[in-house]
Amino acid sequence: LPDPDLVSFQAEDVAALLPRPTAESDKYRRGVLALAAGSNRYRGAAVLAAGGALRTGVGLLRYVGEPEVAREVVARWPETVASALDPVDPVASLPQRVAAWVIGPGRGLHPAALAELEAVLASDVPVLVDADALTLLARNPALVRERTAPTLLTPHAGELTRLLPGVERADVEAHRLDYARRAAAEYGCTVLVKGSTTLVAEPNRAVAANPTGTPLLATAGSGDVLAGMIGALLATGLPPWEAAACGAYLHGMAARLAHGGAPISASDLFDAIPRAISAVV
Ligand code: AMP
Ligand code: MG
Repeated sequence: LPDPDLVSFQAEDVAALLPRPTAESDKYRRGVLALAAGSNRYRGAAVLAAGGALRTGVGLLRYVGEPEVAREVVARWPETVASALDPVDPVASLPQRVAAWVIGPGRGLHPAALAELEAVLASDVPVLVDADALTLLARNPALVRERTAPTLLTPHAGELTRLLPGVERADVEAHRLDYARRAAAEYGCTVLVKGSTTLVAEPNRAVAANPTGTPLLATAGSGDVLAGMIGALLATGLPPWEAAACGAYLHGMAARLAHGGAPISASDLFDAIPRAISAVV
């Protein structure tokens, strides 16, 4: 039987929701996104998430990270305003007055990364939590449950398993819809579960299933690009369920368009994102 609480998200839904700049727009009103991704060990995660955000459309991207990584982000994306993390007091160097945050891809699991996550989640703006930050969150679930501003978790099946103690990975993979709903209920927030069909769950709301997914996306770094894309949509004011569903839709479209169905690498998505947006709006 069809599940009335499962909706397939379509091109017209994206077209109706995608924020469009107007004559009154300026870069601050369009949305400032803060990005805490990448580390010396995983520099690419920072560049990939930044590119996903910039190509999806933000007023301003603020990057914060280790100095070498910040330099690399600015070298690839010179429009980024980057600041170096203070190694003594990382929390003091986090940008203020931003519209949304993306945190976690390639960031690491060390104590400073946890302190940074705590500070970001203590803010009153929407936060997208991905990758390493999900692993840290699984050990400290109250950090999300206590928030009043929206939170969006973007786990793949392995990360989702970690978020739900006592659950087996095979069970999660076999019942992704049930576990997406369960994670949304337990954390009290929006949860995008990545996979061959990406799902977006939120308490008291239908689950969105993304129809554009393609196994071309099963390649290193594509999730980092997705985090940046959805972060941009959060910063421009879309609520988390809508931002996640639109981001996943455009991400799949971009993968299909990048090389006409031939294999892609994650950075091929950059040039394809504008084409995916033009195809939809
Ligand atoms: P991550 O696991 O963070 O690297 O993200 C991987 C991205 O690729 C997510 O957007 C997944 O939904 C997507 N992906 C991975 N495997 C597949 C697949 N077999 N079919 C469709 N999409 C996939
Ligand atoms: Mg990932």
